[in-house]
Order: sequence, then structure tokens, then C-alpha cells
Amino acid sequence: MSKSTKKFKTEVQQLLELVIHSLYSHKEIFLRELISNSADAIDRARFEALSNKAIVEPEGGWKIKLIPNKEDGTLTIRDTGVGMNKEEIDTNIGTIANSGTRAFMEQLKESGAKDNPELIGQFGVGFYSAFMVADKVTVQTKRAGEDGPALQWSSKGDGSYTVEDIEKDSFGTDIILHLKEEETDYLEEWQLRQIIKKYSDYIAFPVCMDITTKQSPKDEEGNVIPDAADEDMVEYTEEETLNSMKAIWTRSKSEVSDEEYNEFYKAISHDFSDPLKTIPYAAEGAMEFKSILYIPSKAPHDLFHDPDPKGVHLYIKRVFIMNDTKALLPPYLRFVKGVVDSSDLPLNVSREILQEDAVLKKIQKNLTTRVLKELAEMKKKDREQYEIFWGELGKVLKEGLHVDFANKDKLADLLIYQSANNDEGKMISLEEYVNAMPEDQKEIYFITGDSRDAVAFSPHLEAFKAKGYDVLFLTDPIDEWVVQSVSEFSEKKLKAVDRGDIDLDSEEEKTAKEEDKKKLEEDNKELLEKLGSLLKDNAKEVRFSDRLTDSASVLVADEMGMNANMERIMASMGQEMPKSLRILELNPKHKVVSKMQAMFAANAEDAQLADYAELLFGTAMLTEGSMPKNPVKFNELITSLMA
Ligand code: ADP
Repeated sequence: MSKSTKKFKTEVQQLLELVIHSLYSHKEIFLRELISNSADAIDRARFEALSNKAIVEPEGGWKIKLIPNKEDGTLTIRDTGVGMNKEEIDTNIGTIANSGTRAFMEQLKESGAKDNPELIGQFGVGFYSAFMVADKVTVQTKRAGEDGPALQWSSKGDGSYTVEDIEKDSFGTDIILHLKEEETDYLEEWQLRQIIKKYSDYIAFPVCMDITTKQSPKDEEGNVIPDAADEDMVEYTEEETLNSMKAIWTRSKSEVSDEEYNEFYKAISHDFSDPLKTIPYAAEGAMEFKSILYIPSKAPHDLFHDPDPKGVHLYIKRVFIMNDTKALLPPYLRFVKGVVDSSDLPLNVSREILQEDAVLKKIQKNLTTRVLKELAEMKKKDREQYEIFWGELGKVLKEGLHVDFANKDKLADLLIYQSANNDEGKMISLEEYVNAMPEDQKEIYFITGDSRDAVAFSPHLEAFKAKGYDVLFLTDPIDEWVVQSVSEFSEKKLKAVDRGDIDLDSEEEKTAKEEDKKKLEEDNKELLEKLGSLLKDNAKEVRFSDRLTDSASVLVADEMGMNANMERIMASMGQEMPKSLRILELNPKHKVVSKMQAMFAANAEDAQLADYAELLFGTAMLTEGSMPKNPVKFNELITSLMA
């Protein structure tokens, strides 16, 4: 192949600039990123070697080597990993093959990436961080287990790169950084030692460097000659391993510092922020494995459109097998990161077969239980931390209610919501709701809508407020599905305040009111029928309400019908549903209603009755957050009434 020059995809170019400029205060992490790539590549080579005899452990062993060269001003990171072929070079480091790229770029720009280096990290732009310290990067690589030529990729980070064939004996990759003049500190031994210790100590392979020391000369018998002059000192060069290589998950909890746990998290998750919660966990007994699980402090940007979430690494007997969250946790826990190392799984099977393994399924069950238990504990013991978690990731957890029947109760215990009787921002659990229920309250009440503001002032709440009953605010779209799964809690039914009949009165109250109600309905039968026929295209029925104390009108869905919130959600998902008509309820004690009664008594055919009906229907639409059917007409009716 002759030398070919290609352009980066536009997004890559933009990303590059962002990385270089916004991570500037964290420059040294370039080394962590490159070493972590090298370690991944070695993991992959070892994994492929399990089934491909053509790949054998290199003579010097699986390792990563740092080669600082002061004369050339270059720092080389050499690994004995899988390397890359032509195609892999193009897709892995010429482009970012991630459908979320564009959306992510926009998010970055909006949020001002400079203040948000963690956003960049999340995205896994590891390799490009090399351009923070280098004005040119050369990659020399040879793919393990393939016959293709070795390749050299080179770029100045200026929008294009070249690829050409080269000679290279062994498989693996050399990343050669031509350091910027002001970055030559990264050639210093002390500097490299310090960075490796800080960020890459746990890496499971040796990170080595040739260390040259001056030693006193020795005489013929091998005895050190003391007090030798400086010019007589002899230089010895020896390869030294800079990291301890101790797999962090095999060490006991008490031996590992928080900082080490956090650094390990950052390395496997590409997150630049500390995790919210670290869960070191060793299962013992019938099934044994070691693991460290992490709950991030922020939701990843692609949480809802990543078909293949990564971040939980599976090892079998210390050999890396795969980075695949789905294999180890259910989809609703896809935000969890970490590592799991098991000795009970078969090493020599394909990933596909492994995914069906009964032991792996058991591990998944075990990990799920553990995560839910940790969350329950966090909720109980550290509410502040739990609310941070909930704000970022509660939405995903709720998906579990619909799919994980076995854990439904545990998940329901984890739900927290704002509510009518509590100040803005205060969240309560279903259990706390039930504990605070007045004795005569029988059900758990909730209202759905798209924000606290949209539901807190709803006329639907009036009767509940009057009784002192609390109403939960369910303001996530997914809550509509949550309440379909959780229809009961602690033997109390969950009931929507805007659906069906509301029955808040005790038996005595009911009997006392019964007569009044009957009379009221009889006296107004014709008026209600008249209004019903005037609104026949908009409302299923017009009736008097038990739930209003202040407002004049409200729309109510049937017990099984679709409320306004659900209709909007379905519409926003592009699923236009056949409009189900709702019931218009009027407040018999409201002045407007008395006014209509008088109008109707004077002249049952009064044309103004139709305007009133339409206005009451329109205001009911507005209070539930919908648009009146014909806003222009609605507007005219109001202004003419005002005039
Ligand atoms: P990430 O590591 O998050 O995937 P990077 O930008 O750091 O993102 O790397 C992109 C890809 O380039 C890697 O996924 C890997 O396929 C490839 N790559 C990077 N460094 C190496 C290496 N040393 N050996 C083999 N492949 C590599």
C-alpha cells in the first residue's frame, strides 16, 4: 500500500479541538488513557490466544513499555496487545464510530466543555488526549493472528492523517508521541513514575521502563570500589516495572484506599468524576466471585440510546473476557460500572456460549440483588446521596418495575416522589407516604403530569387538600407505566386523582350527603343534559363533581381511560391514539354554575349557554396543561365576555 492521506470525520476534528483545549488542566491523564488502551489491547490478545494458536505469548511476556527519548523528544508507549489492521485503524482512530457523536458535540457546546472535562471523559476519547502533549502522534501497529502488513498511522492533529505499510516484527502497537517543546517534562523518569503510580498502578500487566543508574565501579573480584570519582562511575540499565499490578478486586477492602478505588473507576469507566458509590463485593458460599461495582455520580449522556452499554468487565480466573454490561446486569442497571472475576466460569468457550451459561445467569442475579440492597441502604442511611442518585438515574431504575418481576417489591421500595403536602424538592417514598396517612385514608393517591408546576395547582387536588390527604407527584413520563406495574403498596391501592370516581367520604358522610346530592342532580338533570349535548364532540358526559372545592370545572378520565398526561406522552412518541373523550365535572357550588342555572331557568335555549359550556371546557383543558381545541375562538369568547 502506498501512503494515503485521509481526513478525519468532521466530528472528530471538532472533538479533537475540544479535548485539547478543555482538558488542559488535566494533561497528564493522556498517559493513563494510552496505557489503559494498551492494557485493553493485551487483554484482547490474551483472549484471542485462548482459541487461536497463531497468537502466542511474546518472549518478554505480555507487557507495556514506556520509552522516553530525550534526543528525539519522543515518548513511546509500546504494548504486546492485539494491534490493529487497516480497517481497525480507520474505524478506531480515524473516526468515532458512535451514533451519539453529534448529539454529544452539541451537548458539550451547550454546557461549555471547559467547565465539564468529565463530559469528555465519559465519551471515551482516550486516544485523542495524546494531542494535548504532542504535536504529532505516530502509531505503528501489527495485528495479532493476521497476515496483513504492519501499518503506520500518523497525524499532527490538524484534520488529517496518513496511513502506510511498514516493517514490524512482532504484533502489538507503538504509540509514538512527538512531544511539544513545552511538554518535555514527560520524558523525565520521576514524572513518569509518579503518573504511573497515581493512575495505572492496578493495571494487570507490567508497565516497564529502562532505568539507568550510575553505580560505583567494581574491581576484578566483583567488590565495589568505594569513593570512586564521578567520571569512573559506570552506567547500568535495567528494565524496571513501575506498577504494582495487583488486581485491585483481589485485595481486601481494608487494604485499598478510596483514592485507589476512585482511580480504578475512572480508568474503566472513562468518567473524570469520582463515583457516587463504590461497592466492593466478594460472593462467598455456593458461588464465589470477586467484584467491585460502582454507581456513577452522573448519568452517562447516552443512557437512553446506547444499545450496548459497557463498563462492567468480566474476568475469568484473572483473564479478561469481555466488557459487556448486559452479560452481568439487567438493562435497568446498565449505568453500573465495575469488574467481576469468577473462577466458576468456563474459560475456553466463545462469548456467545458464555452468555447463556447458567453460572453467569446466577452471577447476574446475585449482582442485581447486591446493587438493589446497596441502593436500599443508601436510601435509608444517606438520603442526600440517594437523592443525587435518584435525580440522575432513578428514571432507568423505574424500567425495572416493568421487567423484573422478582424484584418488583424491592424496586417499589426505592421509588421517591415529591408530593402535595411537602415543600418543593422534598421527596418521600411510598412507605413514608403510607406512614403519614391519616387513619381514615384508604388509598395512595397520585397525579401524573410533566412537572411539579403542572400538577401542584391542579383542581384535581382540591378535595384531597380539604381532607388533608397527600398526593404524590409523578412527573416522569415513565411513571405512567410505573403505576401500571405497582398497583398496590403495603396493601393500599394506588389511585390516580384524575381517573374514575373519587370516594373520599366516610359512610356517615356519604349518607348525610346522599339526599342533597340526589336532589341536586334531579334539579339540574336537564341543565346537565343540555350542556352534555352542547359539548357532545368534546366530552363524554357533563356531571357534578365531588372533587372540586374552588375551581369551576375539571376533566376526568374513566377508570381505564387515558388521561391528558398519557395522551401527550403517546403523542410525543409519535403514537397518535384515538382520542378518548373525558368527563367534564362541574363544581355545583361555584358561582358560574349558579349563573348557568339561572340562565337555563329563564330561557332553556339561551345562546350564551353554549359559550359558557365551551369556556368551562376550555379552562378545564388549560388547567390540565392541554390547549383548548380552538384557541382563537376561546380567546374571542373570553374577550367578549370581558367587554
Ligand atoms: P476507547 O478506548 O474509549 O474505545 P480510544 O479513543 O482511546 O477510545 O480508542 C479507540 C480505539 O482504538 C480503541 O477502542 C481500540 O480499538 C483502538 N486502540 C487504541 N489504542 C490501541 C492499542 N494500543 N492497541 C490496539 N488498539 C488500540
